[in-house]
Amino acid sequence: MDNCIFCRIVEGGIPAKIVYQDDQVLAFEDINAQAPVHILVIPKRHVAAVQDCREGDQALLGHLLLTCSKIAGMKNLAESGYRIVTNTGAESGQTVFHLHLHVLGGRHMTWPPG
Ligand code: 5GP
Repeated sequence: MDNCIFCRIVEGGIPAKIVYQDDQVLAFEDINAQAPVHILVIPKRHVAAVQDCREGDQALLGHLLLTCSKIAGMKNLAESGYRIVTNTGAESGQTVFHLHLHVLGGRHMTWPPG
């Protein structure tokens, strides 16, 4: 999609530190890490947010979550714990309108989030 930063990363037009990819998803380091491990997991196909997903996206959504789990294993977070976040809409803090799951770990997390 035009003017979407994450679509440009998928296409290779913007560099990113890629940690995993397959035919459906891409995972790369967040440019402004909020934890020692901060990876973004995105669908390669443009979808703005969870709110825009439909019945036909069930398998993709499941695959995104399983990819987060895979990334956590790769980063040795499975035992210590980690957080998966997806902001949906501007009021939630979403700033890039291409669906992404944040995988955050490597430090103690507090609740509630700000
Ligand atoms: P949101 O605020 O939409 O939930 O998260 C967007 C995330 O994308 C932010 O954590 C931000 O640091 C990250 N981000 C924005 N632009 C880029 C970029 O060009 N490259 C990478 N690697 N991360 C980005």
